[in-house]
Amino acid sequence: MIRDNRVALKRYGQNFLVDANILGIIISHSCLCESDCVLEIGAGKGVLTRALLESGVKFLHSLEIDERFRPELEEIARENENFAIHWTDAMKFDYGSLRPFPNKIAANIPYNITTPLIWNLLKFANLGLTRHVYMVQREAAERLAAKPDTKARYPLGVALEAMGNVKIVKQVSRKCFRPVPDVDSCIIEINLERNFSLAGDELWREFLHRGFAHRRKFLLNNLEGLRNFSRGDFLRIFSELGIDAKIRAEDLDCESWLKLYEKICAT
Ligand code: SAH
Repeated sequence: MIRDNRVALKRYGQNFLVDANILGIIISHSCLCESDCVLEIGAGKGVLTRALLESGVKFLHSLEIDERFRPELEEIARENENFAIHWTDAMKFDYGSLRPFPNKIAANIPYNITTPLIWNLLKFANLGLTRHVYMVQREAAERLAAKPDTKARYPLGVALEAMGNVKIVKQVSRKCFRPVPDVDSCIIEINLERNFSLAGDELWREFLHRGFAHRRKFLLNNLEGLRNFSRGDFLRIFSELGIDAKIRAEDLDCESWLKLYEKICAT
């Protein structure tokens, strides 16, 4: 066997999946069928890439930033006509240009870009990209799936709940990766079903981020100044909607976030 002397790069979050059982769980939860076009982010040495192709999808697009993996990924490209490898930065890529356009994501993503990457990919739900299966760091999974009244609740979690649902499918031990990372992981599943226009709505995003900006403050105080609304304006809106003026962002349920946003937009 040829020794692989390519050092795993921390800045690219390189921890390669080596557990066949976990690979199988990602594949089965992706619920792949012959008509699916799939997007993978961070193909690495192509382990998940091969498994996705073997499950008989119509097309697979994989993104990878590190060209040291050309030998593996170009071999896969030679063997599979229904596969395209894109040598690019997943944070700068123009996803809208993909043909055929993907309807699913299945990926063991670089953990350091989890939140901005998912925010970005939500924008393509309206083109049909609605089912996402990711391997993420365990703490990130807990934030993404956090319910109201929990400390882990954060803006993207609320945005996902407004658009669909998030489930933690399986906890994954750090021992399933090489090199072994210092964190555990989870496989998560996101299904987007509604409110697709929110994904590209800058005010919605600003609203959520402002709301959570200072966690010890009341939501009302955090929101003051949004769209030039005064504290008094927000007091009135909160009272009209029956929302407690002393609520904190992490305690507000998704339905109330949406109602509040509707009011702000309509006022
Ligand atoms: N999917 C592979 C590799 C996971 S490690 C496996 O499961 O084994 C994460 C991968 O994402 C690495 O290959 C890394 O080079 C790649 N990566 C990191 N940052 C990236 C970026 N901004 N754009 C595209 N790929 C990236």
